[in-house]
Order: sequence, then C-alpha cells, then structure tokens
Amino acid sequence: MFKVNENYQKLPGSYLFSTIAKKVSAFAEANPEKDIIRLGIGDVTQPLAPAVIEAMHKAVDEMGKAETFHGYAPDLGYEFLRNAIAKHDYQQRGCDIAPDEIFVSDGAKSDSANIQEIFGADNKIAVCDPVYPVYVDSNVMSGRTGVYDAKTETWSDVIYMPCTMENGFVPEFPKQTPDMIYLCLPNNPTGTTITRGQLQEWVDYANKVGAVIIYDGAYEAYISEQDVAHSIYECQGARTCAIELKSFSKNAGFTGVRLGYTVIPKELKCKDVSLHGMWARRHGTKFNGAPYIVQRAGEATYSKEGKAQLKEQVAYYMKNASVIKEGLIEAGYTVFGGVNAPYIWLKTPGQMSSWEFFDYLLERANVVGTPGSGFGPSGEGYFRLTAFGSRENTLAAIERVKKL
Ligand SMILES: *Cc1c(COP(=O)(O)O)cnc(C)c1O
Repeated sequence: MFKVNENYQKLPGSYLFSTIAKKVSAFAEANPEKDIIRLGIGDVTQPLAPAVIEAMHKAVDEMGKAETFHGYAPDLGYEFLRNAIAKHDYQQRGCDIAPDEIFVSDGAKSDSANIQEIFGADNKIAVCDPVYPVYVDSNVMSGRTGVYDAKTETWSDVIYMPCTMENGFVPEFPKQTPDMIYLCLPNNPTGTTITRGQLQEWVDYANKVGAVIIYDGAYEAYISEQDVAHSIYECQGARTCAIELKSFSKNAGFTGVRLGYTVIPKELKCKDVSLHGMWARRHGTKFNGAPYIVQRAGEATYSKEGKAQLKEQVAYYMKNASVIKEGLIEAGYTVFGGVNAPYIWLKTPGQMSSWEFFDYLLERANVVGTPGSGFGPSGEGYFRLTAFGSRENTLAAIERVKKL
C-alpha cells in the first residue's frame, strides 16, 4: 500500500481566506441589496502597463515565426532579463550582484516555498509573527517544524519573533539561535518595515551565528522612505548570509502573468558547499524556465517608459493607502503601515478580537478586510486592509467606516 507524506497531515487547515469567503457569501446572500467592498485580498486590480503589453504582443508575434520562435527557456532565465535585473535592481543601487547570481522563476510564492529544499531537515527556522503563511507551511511539508499546538497556534520547532506595536513591528533577535531566518520587508501583513541600519544588524547577527536570511522583497517598489533598504545586499556582509526573493506581482501587476527571481550570491556557503550551485541544480532538475513572452514582459518593466508607468501604478495604490490611513486616523483608529507598503494594519477598537472586528466591519459597513489573527497568534487584535482596490471603492469604504 502506498503511503502519503505524513507531514501534510500535520498541516492545520488554512481557514483564513476560505472562512472569509464563506462569511462574505453568507452575508451577501442574506443581504442581496448591500454593496460589499472588498479590501481583503492581496491581489492587484490595475491592468498591465502599456509598455508591458507592447512587449508581450511583440513576443507573441515572434513565437509565430520559425526564425524567432522560442522553445524551452534557459533554466536560470534569459540573459536579457537577468542583465536588466542585475543592472536596475542591484548595480544602480550600488549592490554587488552579477547576472549569473539571479535565478528567474515563475514567482516568489513558489521560490519562498521551495528554497527550504536545499537545507537540512534539522535546521531550525525563525519567522516573524504575524507572517506570510508560505514560509512555515512549506517547512511543515518537509518535516522541519515539530508538533503543532492548536491552542497556541504554534509549532514546537519554529522560533517565532513577535512583531507588535509594543516593539514597533521590529523583530528582535530570538533567545534560541535559528539556522534559517525568514524576513519579509516591507512586511505583509503589517505594512511596516525596518530601517537600513536595523537590517544591517540582522545581517551582522546572521553572519555571527551562521544563519541564512531568506529575504522576501516582494514589496520593495512601495518603499518611500530614504532610510529603508531596497535590497538586503545594500547591507555589508549580506553576500555571505542572504538569499533575496523578488516578484513582479506587486510592482508590475504580474499576479496573473507569473514572474519572479531569487538571488543567491556565490559567497553564500555552508563550509565549502555553495548554495548557488545547489539552487542551480535544483532549478535545473525541477523547473523548465519561465515563458519567453513573460520574460520579455519582465524586461519591459525596466525600460524608461515601463519604469515611469509602473511608478504611476504604485503611486495610485499608495494614494489609496494614504486615503485609508488618514481616514482611519480621523475616525480614531490606531493605524500602522501604509507608508512603505500597500497594507494598512490597524488595532481593533476596544477589546474586539480580529474576527469580531471582521464581522462588525462586514455587517455594519459592508467592508471586507483580513483578520490579523489569521497570520499568526501575535496578529490577534489587529486587522489588515489593502490598498489594491480601486480609488472609488477605497474612498467609499473609508467613508462608511468613518460613519460607524
Ligand atoms: C504577494 C507576495 C509574494 C509574491 O508572490 P508571487 O508568487 O510572485 O505572486 C511573495 N511574498 C509575499 C509576502 C507576498 O505578499
């Protein structure tokens, strides 16, 4: 009889978005006349930029002619894209990253889930709490997290670093020494981030204890403050301790197009074993390359027109973020995030739990958000709203919240 991977059996159901969907559809059915505004899900709504569409059309035409047809892409990505990434995302910012240290992929979700494969089963992971669920769940699937305690909603072998208003959402060095540290900055779900100086302290810490930092930079394009790093490689010593994951989803609206990349510097080693070589091997075996059309679309995000158009798109969402933030402050809420990220993280009023506030907002304002407790125990008492909606809906939602 075949056996299943029992680690999958340990996964507690991810009830968050399915519970939200069920509650919303039950409410909609009972109240068909109500116009529900959704500011819950982390997906973009603006169409692809004209420069991207133009590049895609051109690439589609190339695929239709024998002379310019492209089959399998190189495993690690086309050079035109890796060169553009190295130049614009790294070298122009003074980061020493070469094109052959960049691995093009179909997105940061899969990379953030897959990267743990190249690490030993007995590594101890550390994550922020609240956290993007993929980091923990992918380690559960590979048996690295110990036993789940349903009461505390924590795993016995995971180090949690609470990020709350008490510590200004800055993770503190854990008492127990981790081997792998997941950092997502600017952060989903809290919308907060740390300064370049604070990030440097994490790099120094990782180098000192021999840990690797898996740095998720999916929201880098939303950074507005000068003292926030756009890449972990702005920090001294990051080449010996950090892997960086990037995505085209949030900066260019590629959530449905699918493109991302992972950076592994050649100096990143465990004794004399290079992680760069291991990831190249893994990529070569398990991944057959992102589509040519999509990589051309990715390249177009770095053109002069592409950059200008994306800057406008990000500004559109960040204007929504400030509408939400200002409106909530006016209404008396305690609010975080929304400055370097398209997420607003608010403290629920009174002693309301995250889910109580969810129901309250849905029933009284017909606005849908995401309960903070769904991202980890330290998210209890908080609530996430996203700036990815249309301006019209965002304004309407905040007017309703103000009237509560
Ligand atoms: C949206 C998001 C990603 C990007 O995922 P893709 O697979 O590239 O769409 C990665 N990390 C975090 C934290 C995110 O919120």
